Amino acid sequence: MDRETCLAFDQQDPLAAVREEFVIPDGLIYLDGNSLGALPRRTVPRLHQVIAEEWGDGLIRSWNDAHWIEAPVRIGDKIAGLIGAKPGEVIVADSTSVNLFKLLAGALRLQPGRHFILTETANFPTDLYVAQGLTDLLGGNHAVRLVERGQLDAALDGSVAVLMLTHVDYATGAIHDMRRLTAAAHRYGALVLWDLSHSAGAIPLELNDCEVDLAVGCGYKYLNGGPGAPAYVFIASGLQDALRSPLSGWMGHAAPFAFEREYRPAAGMARQLAGTPPVLSMMALEVAIDLWLGVDQREARRKSMALGDLFIRLVDETCRDLGLEVASPRNAGDRGAQVSFRHRQAYRVIRALIDRGVIGDFRMPDIMRFGFAALYTRYVDVFDAVRSLREVLTTRAWERPEYATRMPVT
Ligand SMILES: *Cc1c(COP(=O)(O)O)cnc(C)c1O
Repeated sequence: MDRETCLAFDQQDPLAAVREEFVIPDGLIYLDGNSLGALPRRTVPRLHQVIAEEWGDGLIRSWNDAHWIEAPVRIGDKIAGLIGAKPGEVIVADSTSVNLFKLLAGALRLQPGRHFILTETANFPTDLYVAQGLTDLLGGNHAVRLVERGQLDAALDGSVAVLMLTHVDYATGAIHDMRRLTAAAHRYGALVLWDLSHSAGAIPLELNDCEVDLAVGCGYKYLNGGPGAPAYVFIASGLQDALRSPLSGWMGHAAPFAFEREYRPAAGMARQLAGTPPVLSMMALEVAIDLWLGVDQREARRKSMALGDLFIRLVDETCRDLGLEVASPRNAGDRGAQVSFRHRQAYRVIRALIDRGVIGDFRMPDIMRFGFAALYTRYVDVFDAVRSLREVLTTRAWERPEYATRMPVT
């Protein structure tokens, strides 16, 4: 496999033109779109317009005139189209962590007599922490039942209120079988909550088809909504009016501007809102979602699988005996849009790569993570990234002392 061949792949790539829709600094190879998606070009003029015209000139009138107040529902409906849900089943609000709290609390209230949130030890930390915080708050017999991935089926029983899983593992990229696990949980009467943070924008999803009850997901990773972009909540239509949010804020009231004394939850998804939506972030997210709606997701999936396969192949061919071990499923169909490797000096290697203009990231304890966001990553980027990786490992460039100090964000 040589560089010319990779350039030829890029020429034949049906998504090649989509890269032009993004701001990618010259000379940078960005393999961290799974952590913070790149900036869509159109976000820049759109945010300028929102700030100068809608905020600057329109001021408070823009809640009505520029339809700010409808943004959570409107963008939610657009996201529904990306994840196999119906309009009216998704709303944009808060962060993924806060949404996990809201849905878990609502789900536990629907399941009296069941005390467990079942999840796996390898779940993303915030998912575990939020579940722990909620069961502590509720007290009584409520607890998190934490098991290894392979023990999930055996841990399902009639005491499980909710099975909460992250669909694509953040560290390894391994995909759970959403359809099978959802059905397995339903056989025991448990509700199922999927965290789609590493899935939406990486893999086509079919939430309705898989009969998923609840889901949350992140706006700033593969969806490219911007740093700290608002997250989204999915609730299957049949459950929406039964599920109450514990954060009963005014934006989730049936009549927010009636200023009533008592809380009355809005119908449908609107009750999942708590406070005023962050308009600037919402509008940035909307630009990014509109871009996604113009892309064939199956094509994007095909491309990210091919990029990941190419990365693994090049590492196999050129980085043998350099201390790397694949941490992701080798079969592309079993992993999301990322490939991870273990290395004893993973953190330092990532730092040395970043200094060479190749951006991946590090996850505890020894994982180097490389994301292959299909909309803007090229085959030649994969080739050049592996060449830099080989160079860092063979020259031991990672030994520089400054790479030993951990930065606040890895
Ligand atoms: C990125 C990510 C989150 C992020 O949660 P925030 O509240 O946005 O910080 C949550 N869960 C998973 C699985 C993630 O990958």
